[in-house]
Amino acid sequence: MCENSSVKYRMSNNLRNVDPKELENLKTAVVRAASEMFEYGLIKSTFGVVSARIPQTEYVIITPSGFSKARLATENLCIVDLGAKVIEGKLRPSSETSMHVFIHKRLPEANAVIHTHSPVATAFAAANKEIPCVTTEQGFAFGGRVPIVTEYFCPGSRDSEKLESVVNAFRKAKAVLLKNHGVMIIGNNIEEALDNAVVVEDVATTALYAYIIGGEVKELSADEIKEIREFRLRRYGQTADELVHMGGIGH
Ligand SMILES: [Zn+2]
Repeated sequence: MCENSSVKYRMSNNLRNVDPKELENLKTAVVRAASEMFEYGLIKSTFGVVSARIPQTEYVIITPSGFSKARLATENLCIVDLGAKVIEGKLRPSSETSMHVFIHKRLPEANAVIHTHSPVATAFAAANKEIPCVTTEQGFAFGGRVPIVTEYFCPGSRDSEKLESVVNAFRKAKAVLLKNHGVMIIGNNIEEALDNAVVVEDVATTALYAYIIGGEVKELSADEIKEIREFRLRRYGQTADELVHMGGIGH
């Protein structure tokens, strides 16, 4: 939490109903995701952004601009409203704040938004190519191709038409490619968004290797993807009851 009294005053009416412990837990999850993005090699230097909607509010926690995600602490995070106005924080928020809040605002399921320049997925973005769905892993995670946002725009753009094109791409998959730039990923929570960020780089790498090897690289058909999604829905993972019996994990 910020100790600055003027900042406290500005946030008092807005975040009063949020449990401070829950807010701190969410900040910790943002910092952990940022650090793991760095460890997984999804981001380098000061690049990459993580944001998370504060539940039941119109506010978003976001990482600061030009700050290494490997050295981030909760006190370095910023809180902004859905208009990208800073509500709390000592540092300037990410230069991609406008895009992040736009996505949070337009897609209610996007409780967490991550931006990376993960190298292989970004190579597809630079080549202006969607990531073809050539693995069951991709069908499972994204339900088809990872699309490219139709509009090119400079990093930090606030142009709502361009930002709307990002939202439109998210209607196809929870990961999308920004032309000549990088990757945007959403999730219902931070853990899911981070997992999607890891998986999009993984499936991009496999697709790239497959095309380098040559042979008969075949995209999965709509029916094959439907079958994989059914499998995911009905037969994959553990039920809540099974988790409880295995040692009290889950509810
Ligand atoms: Zn970027």
